[in-house]
Amino acid sequence: MICCKNSENSYQKLAFYIPVFHYFKKMLPIFDPNDNEAGLKLLEDLTNNACQIQQQVLEFILTTNLHTGYLKSFLNGDSSRENFKNKVPVVNYEDIKPCIERIANGEPSSIISAQPITELLTSSGTSGGQPKMMPSTAEELERKTFFYNLLVPIMDKYVDGLDQGKGMYLLFTKPEISTPSGLTARPVLTSYYKSSNFRNRAFNRYNVYTSPDETILCPDSKQSMYCQLLCGLVQREEVLRVGAVFASAFLRAIKFLEEYRKELCSNIRTGRLSDWITDSNCRNAVSSFLSKPNSELADLIEVECSGKSCEGIIKKLWPRTKYIEVIVTGSMAQYIPTLEFYSGGLPLVSTMYGSSECYLGINFKPLSNPYDVSYTLIPNMAYFEFLPVDKDNKKVIQDVQCNGATDHNGKQEEDGKEKDVEAVDLVDVKLGHYYELVVTTFTGLYRYRVGDILMVTGFYNNAPQFRFVHRRNVVLSIDTDKTNEEDLLKAVTQAKVLLEPLGLLLTEYTSFADTSSIPGHYVLFWELKAQGTNDLPELDPITMEKCCSTVEESLDSIYRRCRKKDKSIGPLEIRVVTHGTFDALMDFCVSQGSSVNQYKTPRCIKSEEAFKILDSRVVGRFFSKKTPFWEPFRIETNL
Ligand code: AMP
Repeated sequence: MICCKNSENSYQKLAFYIPVFHYFKKMLPIFDPNDNEAGLKLLEDLTNNACQIQQQVLEFILTTNLHTGYLKSFLNGDSSRENFKNKVPVVNYEDIKPCIERIANGEPSSIISAQPITELLTSSGTSGGQPKMMPSTAEELERKTFFYNLLVPIMDKYVDGLDQGKGMYLLFTKPEISTPSGLTARPVLTSYYKSSNFRNRAFNRYNVYTSPDETILCPDSKQSMYCQLLCGLVQREEVLRVGAVFASAFLRAIKFLEEYRKELCSNIRTGRLSDWITDSNCRNAVSSFLSKPNSELADLIEVECSGKSCEGIIKKLWPRTKYIEVIVTGSMAQYIPTLEFYSGGLPLVSTMYGSSECYLGINFKPLSNPYDVSYTLIPNMAYFEFLPVDKDNKKVIQDVQCNGATDHNGKQEEDGKEKDVEAVDLVDVKLGHYYELVVTTFTGLYRYRVGDILMVTGFYNNAPQFRFVHRRNVVLSIDTDKTNEEDLLKAVTQAKVLLEPLGLLLTEYTSFADTSSIPGHYVLFWELKAQGTNDLPELDPITMEKCCSTVEESLDSIYRRCRKKDKSIGPLEIRVVTHGTFDALMDFCVSQGSSVNQYKTPRCIKSEEAFKILDSRVVGRFFSKKTPFWEPFRIETNL
């Protein structure tokens, strides 16, 4: 069904929108983020006209890119929506990887995009153990700035007085590499913080931070963290909100604060920055905040931090804070209880949902319960489609056709047979239904499966709102790592080889993301037996520790970067359980409604009861003693 055809009214709105959006060729209306009224009006317009804007976005993308190698091969010069829907396949990363690699290797951007691809954004999803790379253009930075600016009127609507102080936002940049053709490949936020859009930003209520930009841009994450916390403490009276992008990064900062509080206080007391801060940009930037000794502040912080536990520490150290802004949806929900412990009752606010492919949605009710957050997809960010997903386990299949693509739409399994599922448009999704998100971006991705499963929770005007349900296939995630079943199986298979010479067999395994301490770590439950008997002989700790480190070495580069460079994941642990534990797990799952015939051991445990069944049968715990190898990835070159 083509939307917007039903009412005359809609046509009138469409007519109104064409000049507005076409005047700003990038489909980006201009507005002043300090003008709340204009911002809120724009949000009303965007959501009221979601359908028309989506049509315009698609038309714009198709006409602009019709002659790119990729679209030409499917559309043959016909940029109509029907032709697009019939001919352009829904794809996974593996399908478009060759195009992206050709661009990385120096072939023209026009393979996929009429506009020059100016950089590649390395996603936390991986392909063949390496980060996926998403194309981006100079114009895309404008789109991101527009998106960030939309957050201002929303926060302002719900929280008073945001212009009376600053945000203590702990933001970091990550390493980047250069592709063989000289394009930069780096994570999306690193790209944004390094851009002039961020560095030369016009200040609004929302983007005045306690961290000088130099500390955010410091390549050494430890120096960056130390300096940002120091600046945040020195300016504590001005801080109105605190946060980081993801909950995991914010908790890491609290842990760092616990570890370095004496040194931070000593720097404040003496007015001298520690000598190990060697980054000259950081030193210069911090020196203006540490211009004189301040023993009064140092005493105060020491008193606040001297309690037995750090419960409520955020409110104590930054007493004017109104909320903590961190993403706590999706896999980050596991951190909500810990954040609540430290927060002293402050609201936890997840403002936005985005990805390396494009920015996606905004939380229109930022103060809602963190377990209840929905995002409204912003209709001029990309053209959105949705593959229906059956919540009762009949998932959209990711199988590829012989051409490598997933067909024009997706495939869904029903009674063991595949059937075509049609991708539906943004305004055609149904309340309570589950979908996998597919995007067509302004930067050269066409009908690309992001891999996120979303559920429709309601509508804001004509724009649907979605709860982030989970990422397709991901079983374990502590920070930005996303380990799927297949990665886990591969890693476990490598490690169990070490057991064979000892006559030991791994009969079953599952996993669990332990976030009870900071940083969190992966836990694997292993049921082992000696060949020919069910008895478990005494385990050699050295071999078991080697198994732990072999699993780590075999996981993808994002896991290894988090573990080695960012130190945002702790050493992997194997807990060996007694014989029969996995039978008990099966009995439990069946008692909860799993079918005996179709029972498969869950490769990750989420339920507390299931966890207790496993944990109460643990007979040995072993930790990795080595940090895994990691270096910035290389892009294969055939030049
Ligand atoms: P990346 O491509 O590495 O930037 O990761 C993007 C992915 O992170 C998304 O596709 C989601 O799976 C996840 N993500 C981003 N924002 C959110 C959010 N607000 N809630 C839950 N998951 C998110």
